[in-house]
Amino acid sequence: MSRIIDTKYVLPDTDDTRQIVIEAMEEARKVIPHGKVATYIPELGKADPSRFGVVLYGLTNSKICLGDYDVRFTMQSISKLINLCVALEMFGPDIVFSKVGAEPSGEAFNSLVELDTRSNKPFNPMVNSGAIAIVDLILPKVSFDKMLAFAKEICVDDEITLNHEVFESEMATCQRNKAIAYLLQSKGIVENDVDDVLELYTKLCALNVTAESLANFAKILASDGVCQLTGRRHISSQTARIVKTLMLTCGMYDGSGTFAVKVGIPTKSGVGGGLLAVSDKRAGIGVFSPSLDEQGNSIAGCEFLSRIAKKLKLTLFFDPEWEKITVYNNELG
Ligand code: GLU
Repeated sequence: MSRIIDTKYVLPDTDDTRQIVIEAMEEARKVIPHGKVATYIPELGKADPSRFGVVLYGLTNSKICLGDYDVRFTMQSISKLINLCVALEMFGPDIVFSKVGAEPSGEAFNSLVELDTRSNKPFNPMVNSGAIAIVDLILPKVSFDKMLAFAKEICVDDEITLNHEVFESEMATCQRNKAIAYLLQSKGIVENDVDDVLELYTKLCALNVTAESLANFAKILASDGVCQLTGRRHISSQTARIVKTLMLTCGMYDGSGTFAVKVGIPTKSGVGGGLLAVSDKRAGIGVFSPSLDEQGNSIAGCEFLSRIAKKLKLTLFFDPEWEKITVYNNELG
């Protein structure tokens, strides 16, 4: 375990750290009215936009939990990390990346046209087409129960359940994902029954988690697949490295480049309002705030991460001049 923690990088567990996190949250809360909750899955439209919770773990198990950190919401696209971990562990990168690329798409998460005209395989596992291809790959070897068990393990959260309302609401309105899956079938990427693939994909999106569960998963990724508390290895360091890299380049949909410049923390978002952010070797962060920006990322969550990235030096590329530069949502700079 000590091999992984390098003390020069460990997040200081002090009252100052806590104060910085509290202030970042207070500032980030102000941008909530600039976003909107997702409504394309009708059940998600019922979310309360004023909810805001964060959990920040240092790798020595210092822990800061604030606001609605224990409120349940659906994982949505953050489940793409779970699918990818399972696929990489089962099949290895050569087989996984024969099905799906590793390049940013520059397109919306549910884009269809570019998938057809620009490429014969999905751009990356962080967009819907890529995740559907990954679920198709693992489908013959897993069941929903097996995936749920893995989600509980990696999120260190036995209370994760399927949100039936959200699942059914999405199944009734998932025409775009169906179109993507049939297109992938026509290209020979999806090999199983489309309905079976979509059912598993959509169920995994509808897992009920908390900001705390996301922070637990993030912490394991930050320490290369090992839980620092128990010493247990959950995924290989290779899987953790690939997942973190794709989070940095593709995790925030068509806002990934901007987010990497402004925040520089590998992060995956979901339209349920969750953010799972990994400050490598330093911290695991989970955020919940369901008001979304135009790209479908939690608007207050991005603002919050941008502020703590600078103040707590959680970013990959720390710039000493950074304090002078505008905040994430420029109009409030
Ligand atoms: N279940 C959602 C979908 O497939 C996930 C999208 C997201 O969180 O980005 O549309």
